[in-house]
Amino acid sequence: MSDNWDVPRRRMLETLRDHGMANPRVLSAMAAVPRHCFVPEDLQQQAYADRALPIGERQTISQPLMVARMVELLELTANARVLEVGTGSGYAAAVLAQLAAEVVSIERIPSLANRARATLAELGYGRVQVVAGDGTQGYAPAAPYQGIIVAAATAEVPPALVEQLADGGRLVLPLGPPNLQRLTRLIRHGDTCTREVFDAVIFVPLIAPSDHDNGPT
Ligand code: SAH
Repeated sequence: MSDNWDVPRRRMLETLRDHGMANPRVLSAMAAVPRHCFVPEDLQQQAYADRALPIGERQTISQPLMVARMVELLELTANARVLEVGTGSGYAAAVLAQLAAEVVSIERIPSLANRARATLAELGYGRVQVVAGDGTQGYAPAAPYQGIIVAAATAEVPPALVEQLADGGRLVLPLGPPNLQRLTRLIRHGDTCTREVFDAVIFVPLIAPSDHDNGPT
């Protein structure tokens, strides 16, 4: 892809490499997705900076390094089916679509789901299935998933997500209290899971249906 975003996009990739991101598949996925198309127009100049940006509804598009890191931990193969909880702008879903055969992404705020669906379709990622709904319940119709990624913070692992994980599948999520989580990876082995803990991170909260009074409307 060659456009006037080439330079900032290349700089973003350098930043990812500087932070130890070496996985070539993930780097080429990050290089392929036009991140500026997923941010509000007035913030486009900052689209490739390594930071989260507001996307409306009090939500954010995740920092590029975070997306790369989480996607790397999923270790997706080209034939994988993957579920994302928290579509937001649709950016991470596009990155996932570069790496996996099937992507389902679920978002609780319908206006964000609609906008992400339109952006993804416009950019040729129409096969990403964006579902408006509660991601704490996963999305059973397309289960099992070889990878599940949660883009919002939760103190507990939602049981439905573990249930919808394929044997050997990986669930990557920011686990912990609202002010600080640890990037955590669960790998399912039959009825048990191994758990690994990685970087300290801060995400917007994963809203359970019973929290609706506290969440954006
Ligand atoms: N992956 C996104 C960033 C998402 S921010 C991107 O690339 O832009 C986290 C998103 O999770 C927000 O849009 C928020 O509305 C959504 N979210 C929070 N709780 C949720 C839930 N229970 N189910 C689905 N989405 C949820």
